[in-house]
Amino acid sequence: MLLTPGPTPIHPDATRAFLRPMLGHMDREVFALNREIQTDLRTMYGTAPEAFTALLAGTGSLGMEAGFANLVESGDEVLVCANGSFGRRMAEMAARYGAKVRLVTAPLGEAIDPGDVAAHLDGVQMVAVVHGETSTGVLNPVREIAEVVRRSGALLTVDAVTTAGMEPFLAEAWGVDYAYTGAQKCLSAPPGLAPVAVSERAFARFSARRTPNPSWYTDLAGLRDYWTDHNYHHTVPVNLHFAFHAALRAALREGLEARALRVRQMGKAIYAALAPLGFSHYVKRPQDRLPTVLALRLPEGLDDAGIRSQLRDRNISITGGLGPTAGLIWRLGLMGEAARPEPYRILLGTLEELLDARGIVGRFEEAWQAEQQGQTQQGQTLTTV
Ligand code: PLP
Repeated sequence: MLLTPGPTPIHPDATRAFLRPMLGHMDREVFALNREIQTDLRTMYGTAPEAFTALLAGTGSLGMEAGFANLVESGDEVLVCANGSFGRRMAEMAARYGAKVRLVTAPLGEAIDPGDVAAHLDGVQMVAVVHGETSTGVLNPVREIAEVVRRSGALLTVDAVTTAGMEPFLAEAWGVDYAYTGAQKCLSAPPGLAPVAVSERAFARFSARRTPNPSWYTDLAGLRDYWTDHNYHHTVPVNLHFAFHAALRAALREGLEARALRVRQMGKAIYAALAPLGFSHYVKRPQDRLPTVLALRLPEGLDDAGIRSQLRDRNISITGGLGPTAGLIWRLGLMGEAARPEPYRILLGTLEELLDARGIVGRFEEAWQAEQQGQTQQGQTLTTV
């Protein structure tokens, strides 16, 4: 049972689709399937109808790299919001593509302040921010950051790896120019694809480059050649496309708002179950908490590595902290198919046994039921704008 902050359990529809007989990457059925993927990605990212969407054959990091490779030229000023390890990865990549990097930071466990971004925008060509910082469980205020960036004319690149497909994401309404995720996160598809969305403004910036993109593989013109004009660029992993298409369809069938509500309800029920044992939220301000990665500070004296190893002996994977938070927190994955009561009942039941503590599952059930009833009574929905 995979309850880590990615990868996530694969959606059954995706598993079935993956096993379809192979087709060629230039087959008309594959082009038709790709077109549906592109349309569904526009819905998932909330882009303008004409925005370019595609799958890159690689993981989320390739999506990150493609943004800098295509949209940054040597000497460009790039402001990177770095309040965790993935923000720092963005800064490193931007620098490798020749950017002069300015950092806006926040203490670990806290969100980036849009006011800090506004104060450092002078002369900046691109701002890059991680929406959900997986390493600490922080949700950065992308909508507010986008508002200040838009006024400056800079491009905005957003890492939507732990958010797109589960959390509200409105690229056009907010003003996001380039967004990417990884197939194995909120969509519960196999790893190996990076879905990207590129605004017209970003495409125009790419087309006006003084020098070619140094990365041939991620070049937007080459990708457009295949995805729009149906010419050969590289051999796309067709069976991963099948699986991704099915997983994304399943997500849209469930509805993006319903998914966002599900993850919040799961987070509340798990917290209600564990808080009496001394677990507490690592991220102090409720509005800064990333719903898809529940970061919990451990109770005093809990044997982090020992308990996680005993869970693994019982085929349950959860994740601890990273770097400075190692031994201090657990990060429970609530992306895609991980955010379901069934696997968490098993995790919590096993914790009852390992921690010799009764009532954990009972508290989860009670809180989960209350969440469901509240939803039915109030016709609860999420406001996404
Ligand atoms: N960005 C964020 C926020 C992530 O959580 C991850 C992976 O966990 C990545 C980027 C990199 O994705 P991948 O490991 O698929 O290359």
